[in-house]
Amino acid sequence: MRGGKRRRGRIDKVTEQVLLVGAHPDDVELGAGGLIHELIRRGIETFIVVVSDDTSSGPLRRSESMTAAEELGVPTQNVLFLGLSDGAVTCDHDSIDLLRAACAERGIDPQLVVTHTDADSHNDHRAVNELCRAAFRHTAFLFLGISLSVETRRFTPSIFVELTRERQDAKGRALAAHSSQEQRIGLAARRVWEEELGRKSSLAAAEGFEVEQQIGGSDGAHLASTLNDSPLHRFWNRLAPTGDVVLVDDVDRAGAAELDLYPNELAFRGLDALRLCMTTQMIGVRRFNEVSSESAQAFQLVRPANAVLAGGPVSNRVARELINHSARVRWVVDYDRRGDAVTIFIRERTGSIRFDTKFDASGRIRDDFAVLTVMTSDFDPERVVVSCAGIHGVGTQALLLALAEPGSAPKLLDAMLRELAENGVAQRVLRCDGRTLEVDELLDLASVP
Ligand SMILES: [Zn+2]
Repeated sequence: MRGGKRRRGRIDKVTEQVLLVGAHPDDVELGAGGLIHELIRRGIETFIVVVSDDTSSGPLRRSESMTAAEELGVPTQNVLFLGLSDGAVTCDHDSIDLLRAACAERGIDPQLVVTHTDADSHNDHRAVNELCRAAFRHTAFLFLGISLSVETRRFTPSIFVELTRERQDAKGRALAAHSSQEQRIGLAARRVWEEELGRKSSLAAAEGFEVEQQIGGSDGAHLASTLNDSPLHRFWNRLAPTGDVVLVDDVDRAGAAELDLYPNELAFRGLDALRLCMTTQMIGVRRFNEVSSESAQAFQLVRPANAVLAGGPVSNRVARELINHSARVRWVVDYDRRGDAVTIFIRERTGSIRFDTKFDASGRIRDDFAVLTVMTSDFDPERVVVSCAGIHGVGTQALLLALAEPGSAPKLLDAMLRELAENGVAQRVLRCDGRTLEVDELLDLASVP
């Protein structure tokens, strides 16, 4: 079952606890200072474990860590040191026991563990990743990448915490507390990396995390998803938490004739935007495929995946099959054929409300209407089918654009995702501006002629 049925992973975990584990004294501040600031703001009990000590300056660096934690609002008694040797951290029976015992002694039983990604060139960082996965069960993980050693091509974050001014200031103060490391930390490199993560998430600057959920770790995964500030990733993580995405293209139904009805530059605007965000911002997070609805392989590709269908039943035979023939939907795009002339419109499957495109005096589209449908797949209830069906192409492009830029219609999409979780299906008829592709939800459907 989707949503609604989310159960607490373990009933004995009453308070929310998040544990951050860094190989070295400044690692978690570097990769997750903004995240820590947000956890504290929410009143979540937050602990930091520093796994290794720099033997040449141990006591100094421990006190720097305490000051840094305080700058982020973490009480100093919540900072633990395991005292392993810098450069020689290993994941073995002893180190697993040490980490577990240190946590048990303090009553730490985290729903969410934040630690290094294994896409990291530093051996200590990779060892700590392995150590955390071995030491904690029934939990969720966020894996951070720090600018000094992250392997950018292998690092595939899908949770992004925006570095707002306030978070960036707190993070800056925490890192400044590691004054013995001023040369090494490198502000410029950190900023470049934070801006790079921002580009992946439509934010100015961000921290990025890979997410992983163990069996029984649904509470932590849920907490992680609420921390996500990227509109794109937040939307897609909720819409389709797992699985590949296949875009099913429609055929050019009316060719040049249709292009006289709206500005040509809009003809592929939504399609291009969705393709671009799937292949750049979502790269590595999930696989993206594209197929023509006319292809013999179309259904074969749709069956195991999350499908985005571009266009209505006239131009997309997969939409005709999955949406127009489904008894689960209220609204469909439909058509009348009289001789050579085809009239397309939106209608209620079982009622009498109908929508037609509105044209201006020069015969160009002023408002198109379109049906956005999100529903669980008939092939696999863990997958979704998303249908973007305009009466004309301009309506279809407007809906595809909203999927690529979910931050442009947050209330609408949030409401649809809630209905999807509750009922397995959500639909809206939307008015789409024929010049700007802006969408408006029709709240009073009966009043539209
Ligand atoms: Zn480190």
